[in-house]
Amino acid sequence: MSHAHARPREFHRTKIVATLGPASADESLIERLLLAGVDVFRLNFSHGDHASHGAVVARIAKLRDNLRRPAAILADLRGPRIRIGNLGERSPIHIRRGETVVLSCEETVDESRIPVSYPAFSRDVSPEDRVLIADGALELKAKSIRGKDVECEVVYGGMLTSYKGINLPGSRVSAPALGEKDLADLAFAAKMGVDYIALSFVRSVDDVRMARRAMSHLGSRAHLCAKIERPEALANLDAILAEVDAVMVARGDLGVEVGVENIPVLQKRIIAKAMEARVPVITATQMMESMIENPRPTRAEASDVANAILDGTDAVMLSGETAAGRFPVECVEVMQKIAVRAEEELFRRAIERRRRRGNRAEHVPAAVEEATVGAAAHCAEDLDAAAVAIFTDSGRTARLLSSRRLRIPIYAFTHFPETWRRMALYHGIEPVLTDGAKSVEEMVETAEGVLRARGALHMGERIVLVSGATNVSGATNSVRIHTVGVIGDA
Ligand code: PEP
Repeated sequence: MSHAHARPREFHRTKIVATLGPASADESLIERLLLAGVDVFRLNFSHGDHASHGAVVARIAKLRDNLRRPAAILADLRGPRIRIGNLGERSPIHIRRGETVVLSCEETVDESRIPVSYPAFSRDVSPEDRVLIADGALELKAKSIRGKDVECEVVYGGMLTSYKGINLPGSRVSAPALGEKDLADLAFAAKMGVDYIALSFVRSVDDVRMARRAMSHLGSRAHLCAKIERPEALANLDAILAEVDAVMVARGDLGVEVGVENIPVLQKRIIAKAMEARVPVITATQMMESMIENPRPTRAEASDVANAILDGTDAVMLSGETAAGRFPVECVEVMQKIAVRAEEELFRRAIERRRRRGNRAEHVPAAVEEATVGAAAHCAEDLDAAAVAIFTDSGRTARLLSSRRLRIPIYAFTHFPETWRRMALYHGIEPVLTDGAKSVEEMVETAEGVLRARGALHMGERIVLVSGATNVSGATNSVRIHTVGVIGDA
């Protein structure tokens, strides 16, 4: 098998997730985004149809093969999103502060009322509840409920157009985690072989389990990412983290639901908990928003990206910036530069933390795999190794080592294409697809061959090899130190 596409030695360890719009994602843009440093492509099933998403998946798969880059695909399901219905000829409607408007979830509504797409709307809303439209750009207050009609007072007015999103902060939305459209999208995404499924508006671990059951029914082996954007998910975060493969700090809806003032602290808490649970975490929404229109980010945006990395995020995400922006490639390039700079500080802090912990000599019992990757991390740092090489079937060892935030490059070798793609999301991990190695000697040979071919390893330099001595998945228990050019190892 040929060696994967080489990246420059100073690659960014923070992974970049880029959203593709069905209309904008032509082959040349996807290729330029990949070469600029995108690791994961996100398809947003709130927009577009199966034909357009399918065409994008096929383009990514073709480029992935040509460029030999893992590039994972994440299908983001719409979930129980409440929307304004079709306003037809009436769109846009100008609603003014102090005015009374009637939202109705009846199937057909007359001109005096505004249709809402969610049949249980009038049941889930109570008088005095806030009804936020278009990410809170418009705000209504529910006054009275009559059958399927909710009479509201306009608090902040503006232009109302068809299909705008509605949030009901503080109310319990009774819709199932996966509606009819989500189940159809899930079946489609499973058929397309995407690597991650993102679940919107997750409330509890039951929502996660419902998705898992649906996926297993469909024979999907995709990994599951829970979007944390509802207050209930924050309350149930530990249980959710125990069941998912990744989480997303979905700051758009989270900000509407809990108030923007809570976002910075919640982001830090969610990332810290995800790191502790060894679950990769994506920080999303408005990271480089001004680059939708401008070739350079604001200083606040540069700081936001760097701060998310210092909080410990595995990945930073772009939405409209790459899906519909004027400068998608420039956006990824500048994000990568900010990431590389922030990582220097991240690694300096991680080293200091390990030194302090080492000096205290406290004893925390750990599982064999954790102890093994801990030993590998220490060896790599103490010996100033050129690289760590992991051999993994499921990607689990890569996930464990990734969360230690080593400065030293970590190459994760696997012979499973789906593990190769999945690891594209993990911080600091460079996935490499190889033939299976049957012994530790073969692993040393493979790692040395690939890294030397990439110019990442030279005579006299050391690599730290992490593997399961028996080559059985889940049996990671050995660390080997190899010096290039020294037979029988140092
Ligand atoms: C968000 O709300 O931040 C988010 C990522 O979800 P969506 O883009 O689907 O609204």
